[in-house]
Amino acid sequence: MSQDVSNHPVPEAFAKQANLTPEKYAEMYEASIKDPDGFWAEHGKRIEWMKPFTQVKDVSWDKDDLHVRWFADGTLNVTESCLDRQLETRGAKPAIIWEGDEPDDSHTLTYRQLYHAVCRFSNVLKEMGVKKGDRVTLYMPMIPEASMAMLACARIGAIHSVVFGGFSPEALAGRIVDCQSEFVITADEGVRGGRKVPLKENTDRACDLAKGMVKKVLVVERTGVGVEMKDGRDVWLHEVGAEVDDTCAPEPMNAEDPLFILYTSGSTGKPKGVLHTCGGYLVWASMTHEYVFDLKEDDVFWCSADVGWVTGHTYIVYGPLANGATSLMFEGVPTYPSPSRFWEVCDKHGVTIFYTAPTAIRALMREGDGPVKATDRSTLRLLGTVGEPINPEAWEWYFRTVGDSRCPIVDTWWQTETGGTMIVPLPGTTKMKSGAGSHPFFGVVPKLVDAEGEVLEGATQGNLIITGSWPGQMRTVYGDHERFVDTYFSAYPGNYFTGDGCRRDEDGFYWITGRVDDVINVSGHRMGTAEVESALVSHDAVAEAAVVGYPHDIKGQGIYAYVTTVQGVEPSDELKDLLQKHVRSEIGPIACPDLIQFAPGLPKTRSGKIMRRILRKIAEDSYDSLGDTSTLAEPEVVDELIDGRQNKA
Ligand code: ATP
Ligand code: MG
Repeated sequence: MSQDVSNHPVPEAFAKQANLTPEKYAEMYEASIKDPDGFWAEHGKRIEWMKPFTQVKDVSWDKDDLHVRWFADGTLNVTESCLDRQLETRGAKPAIIWEGDEPDDSHTLTYRQLYHAVCRFSNVLKEMGVKKGDRVTLYMPMIPEASMAMLACARIGAIHSVVFGGFSPEALAGRIVDCQSEFVITADEGVRGGRKVPLKENTDRACDLAKGMVKKVLVVERTGVGVEMKDGRDVWLHEVGAEVDDTCAPEPMNAEDPLFILYTSGSTGKPKGVLHTCGGYLVWASMTHEYVFDLKEDDVFWCSADVGWVTGHTYIVYGPLANGATSLMFEGVPTYPSPSRFWEVCDKHGVTIFYTAPTAIRALMREGDGPVKATDRSTLRLLGTVGEPINPEAWEWYFRTVGDSRCPIVDTWWQTETGGTMIVPLPGTTKMKSGAGSHPFFGVVPKLVDAEGEVLEGATQGNLIITGSWPGQMRTVYGDHERFVDTYFSAYPGNYFTGDGCRRDEDGFYWITGRVDDVINVSGHRMGTAEVESALVSHDAVAEAAVVGYPHDIKGQGIYAYVTTVQGVEPSDELKDLLQKHVRSEIGPIACPDLIQFAPGLPKTRSGKIMRRILRKIAEDSYDSLGDTSTLAEPEVVDELIDGRQNKA
């Protein structure tokens, strides 16, 4: 299946009930571009303000005075939008449906219950000495207390920094020290896929490594395993929480006061402390959540990301709650106890909107249709994906097998830095092309440029930049404004550089082709990794593929492909030949991999993204300096790949 052939109209039944139409999208988009101040003055009111803003946008992307401010004279507390204002009409509505690691373990929290739990949590933090502006590090499993902890920080004006519960003590310590966080919130243990994660033990180790930085550790009881509590430092949530009030006045915050720091996942190097602020972020989170997911009052919305990623921040916690939606939170993994789990959870809780990542879709596709077809899924009406370009093959499978060709797919392109979705086929407004990010969200102006910064028009390929700010834009790298300026505004001064490559087709659809650093240049032809990888994945024998460039005497760069085969297919030289022929016929001789290495697994970040930076080193045969590998999910696969490398000197 080649890249552009799959065009899907909006499924008819969906179109009938969609909140948006193509005309409405065009009208709103135009308004957002022609008069951004007017547009955002209106939509900025969608959240709750203590003191309404009168200024809308104050932004300069001039590198000598670079600042991004939205609604800057307004005062608010984001938890008033997420909790207080929901009580009157939605007090008894489920805010969080929690599904535990084991299928018989689940419970629901209404908006009123969540409100009181967050207030208690806020009072506990105050008792511990947390004050407005303090950084609080969260190292939590996927339990409602993770959302509560974030909201409690926000309620008292503290800045949360969530560190994924799968990270090592070293990675945790590095992030604690980077933002000088004196407080940590964790649990005794986490539970994932039937396995225990020693969160408290890891926290103790991280506190040692952080050498006295951490003054207080708040511990949530998840499994009840005995953990050591350090006198004077460690406190149990259930003990202090029982003694405090269940109301807590929200701290008035300026719109531009920090809400959270979130370290990016580290696909490309040392993690950056991305800083988001209260007003603009919440407007963006709630607005994108409503429009991207065609939100209705009765929806059960499930974003399967971890709260440790920005996707979890925006689409498990802040977006859904600010919209008064029901947000499902899942503690486990897609394949435990069986590869039907995702779909069983959908059936159990009547999920209507499901949002996940290509890595999960590919992993489940590898198991065949059986585990999906064993379930009903009839409540689903919309599917979504985020995190990497989705291979058309995986898109088609998701659409047909999971969604029974009934549910549109929203392929949402965005970044930790952008706060929420930027490019997306808004459901009901456009035909869908499998694998295309498609169109800009309201207020977003994407452009493609060449290496010199020349803007490219029409059907073309280039580097993706955004001109003009949007409310959810990151404000700085915490403690390092210069790094913010350098990373995003020096390549194309006056514009935001995304770091991603992109193609625009004849219909004006945007296709993300992968990271610019990953672009391969074969005999002067520039190629995104996504295109070659998708060609490989479209072969029946291939489950997953990663492609990188390596130095080649004649062509400048050759193409090196790492290939994981589907269950039951053995790697062989014949298969290599077949795959080379396949890519040649799908894209052309120029894209044909020179070297193919069969790989039982690929190195990925903890959020499931392929780390091509490491694969490139192995392909270059220079693997002794792999750089920061602290965010790798399974470091073991790297050694195996080094052993089997195809380009030995
Ligand atoms: P780091 O910036 O530390 O290297 P990261 O870029 O992986 O880490 P995120 O902010 O989580 O951290 O990921 C954003 C990136 O993920 C985008 O720049 C893009 O490369 C990729 N991405 C996200 N969603 C999509 C999508 N729908 N289609 C294509 N690529 C996507
Ligand atoms: Mg990035």
